[in-house]
Amino acid sequence: MAVITLVDRIDALLPQTQCGQCSHAGCRPYAEALAEGRDPINRCPPGGEDGVRALAALLNQPVIPFDPTGPQPKPRALAVIREDSCIGCTLCIQACPVDAIVGAAKQMHTVIADECTGCELCLAPCPVDCIDLVPVADPDDGKRERVMARAALARKRYDARQARKARDAADKAKRLAERAAVPASPAPAAAQAAIAAPAAGPVDKNELIRKAMERAKQQAPVAATASSDKMAVIRAAMERAAAMKAAQQEADKDKE
Ligand code: SF4
Ligand code: SF4
Ligand code: SF4
Repeated sequence: MAVITLVDRIDALLPQTQCGQCSHAGCRPYAEALAEGRDPINRCPPGGEDGVRALAALLNQPVIPFDPTGPQPKPRALAVIREDSCIGCTLCIQACPVDAIVGAAKQMHTVIADECTGCELCLAPCPVDCIDLVPVADPDDGKRERVMARAALARKRYDARQARKARDAADKAKRLAERAAVPASPAPAAAQAAIAAPAAGPVDKNELIRKAMERAKQQAPVAATASSDKMAVIRAAMERAAAMKAAQQEADKDKE
């Protein structure tokens, strides 16, 4: 029989947005800090004052107001993607803790409103700032029973995502191990020749890029129109996204 710990009971009172406003990397770490008496009970804005009251009752502590210097409770707002500006970089999908965003690489993305907790974690990574927060108009949205119903759904989705990520990591580790176990085959002659040839230095690369840009300019006459401005913004954003992705891959490689 599963033992329900104090951390479990505290975690059950938290909204499960995983937003990090409590200065922890999610609801569970805040629950652990509360169970160990390391943090006060007034650090979770999505839980609001009702949440503070619930924690106070469970932990037999006095109800205290939110620290005025920290994040404050506010009405929930849902993320909405301006789809005509989305460049399909997938960074928001990677940031969403409850898989509330759907889309594919280089395709338009969209938020599933019923799954969005309003955690805001997708906003910062978007390279073209095309995600807006739209406040929920329903005055009953912040009622405790609604918050707890959403928490149950968010917990399920967050757990499923974490399980999927763990599976993916295990599959990747297995593939790498299998690849490492295969003896290296001799490189084909062409590849050996390429290895033997002196590598192109940074100056050569720059020259190649410059020539490619000149060719592109000649092929496509540049008109100073709004659409060319937009293309430049999108291109810059794509480059930024690609650089972020490459940096992430490098970091992943380093970890491996
Ligand atoms: S919902 Fe509350 S407990 Fe969970 S991460 Fe956000 S602030 Fe922390
Ligand atoms: S879509 Fe954005 S705001 Fe909504 S849950 Fe996902 S990361 Fe949070
Ligand atoms: S981060 Fe922004 S641009 Fe990238 S897929 Fe999401 S909404 Fe589109």
